Parts: sequence; C-alpha cells; structure tokens
Amino acid sequence: MFRLKEHSQRLARSAHMIHMDLPWTAAQISEGILELLKKNGAREIVYIRPIAFVGEGGINLDSRKHLKHVAVFAFPFRAYFERSGLRVCVSSWRRVSRSSMIPRSKVAANYLNSSMATIEAKLAGYDEALLLDEEGRVSEGAGENLFIVEGEVVATPPTYTAILEGITRQTVLALAHDMGLEVRERPIDRSELYTADEVFFTGTATEVEAVVEIDGRKVSGGEAGPVTKRIKASYSDAVRGRIPKHRAWLTPVNANSRRAGRAGS
Ligand code: PMP
Repeated sequence: MFRLKEHSQRLARSAHMIHMDLPWTAAQISEGILELLKKNGAREIVYIRPIAFVGEGGINLDSRKHLKHVAVFAFPFRAYFERSGLRVCVSSWRRVSRSSMIPRSKVAANYLNSSMATIEAKLAGYDEALLLDEEGRVSEGAGENLFIVEGEVVATPPTYTAILEGITRQTVLALAHDMGLEVRERPIDRSELYTADEVFFTGTATEVEAVVEIDGRKVSGGEAGPVTKRIKASYSDAVRGRIPKHRAWLTPVNANSRRAGRAGS
C-alpha cells in the first residue's frame, strides 16, 4: 500500500478537525486496512477507501458523543479518467471557503462542492472541473491538486488557498525536488493557467495526469509536456517501490505482493 501511514493520519486528523475524534489511532486504522487486504488476498491494483462516520446518538447536530464507526472498502481499480490528457474548465462554483468549511480536511461534506463542479464540467463536455477559491485564486481540481510548470520550476497553490492537503501533492513535491526541479508553493492566478508551459493534476485515484486544455486554450500544445511526463514516470516508480530512498512509502501486504494499493482516506 502506498503511503498508508499518511492516509490514516489524514483521516484521523480530518476527523479531529470536525470534532469527530475516533476511538482508534491512525496506526490502528492502518492495521485494520492491512487486515482487510490480507483477508481479501488482493492480487491487483486496488483503491482503498476508509470512511469514518457517526452512528447511534440521536438527531442532535452536536454529534460529539455519538458512536463513531470506521468502514473500509477496497476494490479493483484501473483509472479515474477515461482518457489521458485532460480537457478542463474553470467551474462556476468556487471551492468551499475556509470561512465556512475546512477544505484542508478530507470531510465527506466538502464533496458536495466537488461533485457539483464535476457534474457541471461533464455536462459541458469537459473531463474535469478546476475550482478557484473565494478570492479568485486557483485552488484545485474537483478531486485533484493542481500544479503548473514554467521551465524548470514547478508551482502549486499553498494550503491556505482552500485546497485539500493531498498526499500525492506532497509526494510529487518530494519527487520534483529529487529531480532537481525548483519547487514553489505559491498562489496561482487564473491567467497563469493559460500561459503555463504545462499543467497537471495529482491525486490518489488520478495519480499524475496532464491537463492539455483549459477553458478552450491549449496547454503545452495540447499534449502532456516533458516535465509532466518525467514526474508521472517518477511517481509510477515510487508507487511500485522502484526508488530505493522512498521504499518506506510502501507497506507490503504479503510477501508475494508485487503491486501497490492506493489508500484514499
Ligand atoms: N483535492 C481533492 C478535492 C480531492 O478529492 C483529492 C483526492 N483525494 C485531492 C485533492 C488529492 O488528494 P490525494 O493526493 O491525497 O489523493
């Protein structure tokens, strides 16, 4: 499993941020996920989705004392998008504001925002939606973090621009640094999307995927650019344990397992 520890920690922290402290530690959640995969004897790429929710306790919106549950689903998974090289549009919906919700936390309620933006984009014939934050800065894709490339510089919005703190984002920042690229976390203006050399999305399900058109403007000539391709290849190596210094990102499920599962906490 790829970055299991970080995914379990994000789940526990996300729950804590919304007063939903779980009666299990991140390490215990990880153990539960490992047990599920072992019992199912997964032999292919699986997407893993742990989800915490409140149960018995009444209808009061103060759910702090309600019973907490964690369920884990794992299922064979191929690709999030049907095609490689995405056509996207800036959504008419803004990313949930930090003054009303906690976009940094992976809270299911935030996904109504992502879902509405996704459906709007698909109805208009695009592959994915890109959201701005309340201030009009670039935030992220409906289910992915966003990076732009300018020469040898890779930039992505900082966490205060209402983004989910993606684990793939963090992984790609580390890999880009390893590759000798300059890495910057900085606010990105909408207009920069149209002039960047390359744009790509990152996410557990999406992995690393090139954005080749934004609002009808072609990016990097309408195909994945060279830096995106290098980062994509490096990510693929990392997930498969082919980068010795990053082997600690992987948790083996059994001695014979050759493929990594992806946890989507
Ligand atoms: N932003 C949003 C809104 C997402 O749903 C996801 C997918 N989990 C991401 C970013 C990427 O996060 P991660 O790399 O941890 O999957």
